[in-house]
Amino acid sequence: MNTRSDRACMLCGIVQPQREFIIQGCPNCESIINFKSDDGLVQDCTSPTFEGLVALTNNQKSWVAKWLRIDGFENGLYATKVVGKLPPDIVSDLEEKGITYRPRDGSATE
Ligand SMILES: [Zn+2]
Repeated sequence: MNTRSDRACMLCGIVQPQREFIIQGCPNCESIINFKSDDGLVQDCTSPTFEGLVALTNNQKSWVAKWLRIDGFENGLYATKVVGKLPPDIVSDLEEKGITYRPRDGSATE
């Protein structure tokens, strides 16, 4: 396992090194998906395959943020496309919490 590789969160699209997800969790999703210290969960819910990096700074209300639906998210680097899908048990967890998961792999339709 290459722990130095960056991974993208499949829920919010933020990109950070895999070890950050394990040490800090996802800055946006940690309260929803408890990544911290859970290597397997980080593997399942983040993807090493992503495209189109966009930097979000100062919670800007940019068209990019709106387009990516990351308005109000933490500053950081986001992928416009993340290959992979959250495991079904995580998706049903999210649904129980009232969160609709929109896959970021381009398969979601408006
Ligand atoms: Zn996230």
